[in-house]
Amino acid sequence: MDQVLGQVLRNAVWERLDMLSDLATRADAQSLVSVARSELPRLTEAWRSMLQAHDPDERGDCPTCSTRWHRCKAPCSVWQVAHEHLVAGGLAPQQAAMSADERRAARRRSPVPGQTRRATPPSPAETTGRHALVTPRAVTA
Ligand SMILES: [Zn+2]
Repeated sequence: MDQVLGQVLRNAVWERLDMLSDLATRADAQSLVSVARSELPRLTEAWRSMLQAHDPDERGDCPTCSTRWHRCKAPCSVWQVAHEHLVAGGLAPQQAAMSADERRAARRRSPVPGQTRRATPPSPAETTGRHALVTPRAVTA
């Protein structure tokens, strides 16, 4: 996929996520139930699909994040983010409270989407490449 198509794809996904976040904060209860019924299964399926691509191989490495020269031990950053957001309850409240315009501006400031969500410097445990709340056993069970 060339760079332009890649950018179009990324923008479409970011805009969809922005729209869902805005709905969560602004929609009336009836609309919210309707959106939840249609979108939650899609979001959970997206997570499952993404996480399957990052399931550890027989050596305990992430096959997607590893390269020929660098093995990435599981849990990789995708699993760490999944645990942080889906299990540990760290739903990035500072990001959730942002408006769509603020999120777009934050993305423009950061070359790596997702890293705009950090409000505090990484803890020593995080800088080691391992999330303190994630153990390899927890994600492979
Ligand atoms: Zn991975």
